[in-house]
Amino acid sequence: MELAVGVIGTGNIGADHARRLATRVAGARVHAVFDLDGDRAAAIAAEVGAVALRSAEEVVDDAAVDAVLIASPGDTHAALALACIAAAKPVLCEKPLATTTEECWKVVEAEAAHGSRLVQVGFMRRYDAGYLVVKQEIDGGRIGEVLLAHCIHRNQSVPPSFTSDMSLTDSVIHEIDTARWLLTEELVAATVVPVRRSPLAAEGLLDPQLVLLEAASGAVVEVEVFVNCQYGYDVRCEVVGSTGTASLEIPTANVVTTAGARSQPVPVDWRLRFGAAYLEELQHFVDAVRAGGVAGPSSYDGYAATAVAESCVRSLKEGQRAQVTLAKRPALYETA
Ligand code: NAP
Repeated sequence: MELAVGVIGTGNIGADHARRLATRVAGARVHAVFDLDGDRAAAIAAEVGAVALRSAEEVVDDAAVDAVLIASPGDTHAALALACIAAAKPVLCEKPLATTTEECWKVVEAEAAHGSRLVQVGFMRRYDAGYLVVKQEIDGGRIGEVLLAHCIHRNQSVPPSFTSDMSLTDSVIHEIDTARWLLTEELVAATVVPVRRSPLAAEGLLDPQLVLLEAASGAVVEVEVFVNCQYGYDVRCEVVGSTGTASLEIPTANVVTTAGARSQPVPVDWRLRFGAAYLEELQHFVDAVRAGGVAGPSSYDGYAATAVAESCVRSLKEGQRAQVTLAKRPALYETA
């Protein structure tokens, strides 16, 4: 039986996910969608052969919906994830799990009380072929003990509504999750270093920013986040170990050599760079649910990532190193 998915939020990524589910993910179909923008929802519903419902609650409660995909704005995620848990429906929740640690923790507690995993958080970099190779090199012991990592997260540009905090809570949160996953340990402190502002950054936006994330072992992850770099979407990562390094392979299209120069295109955005990872992420979710469970990045991972992002914001505001305090991982997530 195909998994019937309800999609809540059909903006940029929700529409992409709905199309992927309808056309490229095996064993799934989109049964229902909802978006505050009714026209947007109706257009996607018609495109993917789904019904457009009148509320998010209708999607969650629809008996024909087996699983839910949340792709509405971050501040709506916690309530919707809690509704899915109350209805015992598996849910793939886009990042962030919630915009505050308190809300994230409510989701963790509700899922732990339910007694089995229902929530996968949309940290799709864990499904990217390049990151998976870096992870295998680390786990295989081929670079020795991890000492530090250099990460770069650059966007071509951002809308005027984008804030300095969002560079940390919306962008760097991906590096926070990949750092926890690659190093298999918690991050214990964050320091945001002020950097000379790009003259092309919007009024009031601190861009770029440099973030230092300290892991429990003493390993340090350094992240440059620069959301107005102009030239494209560029994500890099090099993990430095005691006997070698592992670098993220950057997938590229063809190399063009002409007029005395060799060039490779740079993706314009995350859609292109992580297209294959989004597909793997959705397939993994669908396969796991059809097999009777949920795996992948957990609610606890979502909670921890938001907690570290909050510490980054605190460091930015207070101009000093900010510690990360995490509540104890419930038993449900001990092997997750
Ligand atoms: P978006 O383009 O603004 O789309 C969000 C959509 O949800 C809009 O159509 C919005 O309608 C609608 N909406 C607002 N409140 C809603 C509610 N209560 N119920 C249902 N729909 C609601 O945003 P986006 O870029 O797709 O981002 C959505 C989420 O995905 C965010 O959490 C974002 O962080 C995440 N995301 C993740 C990645 C990734 O790489 N994993 C990439 C992009 C986005 P209105 O416009 O009328 O408000």
